[in-house]
Amino acid sequence: MPPRPKSPIHSLSKSLYIRGLQCRKALYFEKHRPELRDELTTDAKARFAAGNQVGELARDLFPGGELVPYVKDDFAIQFKQTSDAVASGKRVIYEASFEHDGITVKVDILRKVAKGWQIYEVKSGTALKEVHEHDAALQYFVLTGAGIPVTRVFVVHLNSEYVRRGDLDLAQLFTVVDVTKEAKAQQAEIAKEIAAQRKMLSGKKPPKIDIGPHCSIPYECDFGEHCWQHIPENSVFDLAGKGVDQFELYRNGMVSLKDVPLDLLKGKQRQQAEAAAKKKVIVDRERLRKFLDQLWYPLCFLDFETFQSPVPPYDGLRPYQQVPFQYSLHYQKRQNGKLYHREFLTAPATDPREEFIERLLADIPEGSCILAYYKAFEIGRLKELAEHFPRYRKKIQAIIDNVVDLIEPFQQRMIYSWKQRGSHSIKQVLPAFVKGMSYEGMTISDGGEAMEAYHEMCALVDRPEELAELRQALLEYCRQDTLAMVRLVEILERQ
Ligand code: SF4
Repeated sequence: MPPRPKSPIHSLSKSLYIRGLQCRKALYFEKHRPELRDELTTDAKARFAAGNQVGELARDLFPGGELVPYVKDDFAIQFKQTSDAVASGKRVIYEASFEHDGITVKVDILRKVAKGWQIYEVKSGTALKEVHEHDAALQYFVLTGAGIPVTRVFVVHLNSEYVRRGDLDLAQLFTVVDVTKEAKAQQAEIAKEIAAQRKMLSGKKPPKIDIGPHCSIPYECDFGEHCWQHIPENSVFDLAGKGVDQFELYRNGMVSLKDVPLDLLKGKQRQQAEAAAKKKVIVDRERLRKFLDQLWYPLCFLDFETFQSPVPPYDGLRPYQQVPFQYSLHYQKRQNGKLYHREFLTAPATDPREEFIERLLADIPEGSCILAYYKAFEIGRLKELAEHFPRYRKKIQAIIDNVVDLIEPFQQRMIYSWKQRGSHSIKQVLPAFVKGMSYEGMTISDGGEAMEAYHEMCALVDRPEELAELRQALLEYCRQDTLAMVRLVEILERQ
């Protein structure tokens, strides 16, 4: 039996324990230096929102249960409500709260069966991961420690194959995996791990743990800015593509790209280091010309914005399927000719797909060459639209057949600037080649923020002024993406 916690600094929750498993230093910071935490990223906010939505929906797998609501900093009331629910014979409890040996947990769904209770740990992802088994194992540890007879432990996650047809079919939407064996197998280790985490937390200083692959596995650590502050621009971590192990270079004292002997690098990585050392732009004119010669007019520049939802909101969608809700289209009928612009942004909280594809098919001049930046994304969405609206299949296929990828010259290093820092994302490429044009300072500056703005837009239907402002920001962002492509082609033409 591990020793009782001596102070609040030793008390743990499931998320703190999991954090300590990933990196003890992160757990130390969480307890002693929470002010070092990074600002919440758009991705993290989306993950929390998805977790809440899926957690609430999964309760309907076992309807009629009693909810023990979360009350910040007051677990006593949640323990009491849980024990009252158990005592009064409730057969299903949501967010049941338990404590054992200073460790608190909330169980997503607790279900009474003949010989005891079943634990259901709900995850918003589409696959079982090792970390989920650690979660479930800690739940088992605390509940059995608190005297609750646990018969089985399950992880519930979304089924990526599920396609919505009409009302949600929860039995198909969710996959329930029995992890009882795995949870039981971890029990002895859990006790040791808790003791080790508490010992570490008693220290006056954080443990000496350097940055490593563990900073982003299984989760992106939110003390990254603090721990990674000594890494300069153009570091070994900017090295793109396959090749050397970046952490091995770092552990051998090579932090800046210029510390790395060139003969350690090959191919694109070597080219990147050479360009960084000489601050130069590399151009392969022959390959670039070949790329440009395949384009024709009318020439279109096309970009989609999409949203995704863990729970498919409309028919024909799978969990997390990307749903196009906006596009920007610039086009020229002839070389150096007038630049035309068309755009579409859906009304909030409606299925955007049919209007999106109808408007797009009407806006693209017939027989155009269509440039997209990372065409797999746009083509993927077009194929999904063709599948859902078979009457447009032929016309959509005609567009797909004419799409050329503008990422190619940058990804395949027909042209490369040291300012790209190994990245071929348009966000890095644009300011590297086009003076005065970047995404900095824009209200919406990347696809994740655009997705967040879409969800916000749906919550603003009754606030027209705020909605109009947000729509304006979305239109500006998407327009910037296709205008960026226009300017990049002009740059390529001038080489
Ligand atoms: S950034 Fe890395 S080293 Fe720092 S606390 Fe997080 S996981 Fe640990």
